[in-house]
Amino acid sequence: MAAEKKWDEIREILLKMKEETLREISKAVKTGTATVTGEPTGDIYDQASSERDRELGLLLGDRERDKLHQIDEALLRIAEGEYGICEECEEEIPLGRLKAMPFTRHCVKCKSDLEKLQAQTKRLEEERSFRDISISEEEEG
Ligand SMILES: [Zn+2]
Repeated sequence: MAAEKKWDEIREILLKMKEETLREISKAVKTGTATVTGEPTGDIYDQASSERDRELGLLLGDRERDKLHQIDEALLRIAEGEYGICEECEEEIPLGRLKAMPFTRHCVKCKSDLEKLQAQTKRLEEERSFRDISISEEEEG
């Protein structure tokens, strides 16, 4: 119980985020536009056809839904007493980082390591698919 109390502030932030996200989703669904507070709006949207607006709205919906999923997971981790522990090194994640990114699952160090790894993997995949393309072209030709 004490451990849960420790995250009261974070839980509050998460619940507020969830509320805002839900509002954004219902707004996007209702109007079919992707106008979100804090996001650049203007020329792009003015020029966009209503068809394109609807597409943007759907894209936003997916992203917002993904966020909602992350918020729910973080709330679940709080309830289960697993919150605030880095999944990689099992060190406690600093409170300041959790406040800024309440649904993060990694400490700063592991996160940047993971990002480096992901970038590397992505580059390798790109190189591989590039090679595949040139190989198949050679075979065809
Ligand atoms: Zn870590």
